[in-house]
Amino acid sequence: MIVTLRKITKTPLDFLVKSDEITFKGYLEYHAGKLILLKADINGSVSTECSTCGEEFKLNVDEKVEFFISDGLYEDENNIDIDVVESFNSTADLDELLLSEIELIKSDYHSCNDCEKKLNKGNKLWQYLRDEYPILAERKEELTTKLL
Ligand SMILES: [Zn+2]
Repeated sequence: MIVTLRKITKTPLDFLVKSDEITFKGYLEYHAGKLILLKADINGSVSTECSTCGEEFKLNVDEKVEFFISDGLYEDENNIDIDVVESFNSTADLDELLLSEIELIKSDYHSCNDCEKKLNKGNKLWQYLRDEYPILAERKEELTTKLL
């Protein structure tokens, strides 16, 4: 779905981009200057690799995203804290924006269910041992790599 930025006004424009596994639903609203606000939810699941074992698994996604789209180069140095995506053709390609958000989500650290369980078990065991044998606390990293 491609949106022409100049057509976006102060009245929020709802959008919905849907694929088999993911829904990207939200609105676009004119903010100020060259900036258009995008606020949306990303729901569904994506296939990604487990950061621990490398197996592919389905990650449930339930994320809120909020950023600005700049119609042209963005150069307001007073406002460096905000997230801005620049558009150089006066349009916003929502499918592309969704893809880059998904890449961002995938690049985080994620563990599959099996590894999650192992990790939880490991943490419980670790807490027990640490309380019983404080000297182990100093060797946590070494032991974690060895045992988990
Ligand atoms: Zn795993």
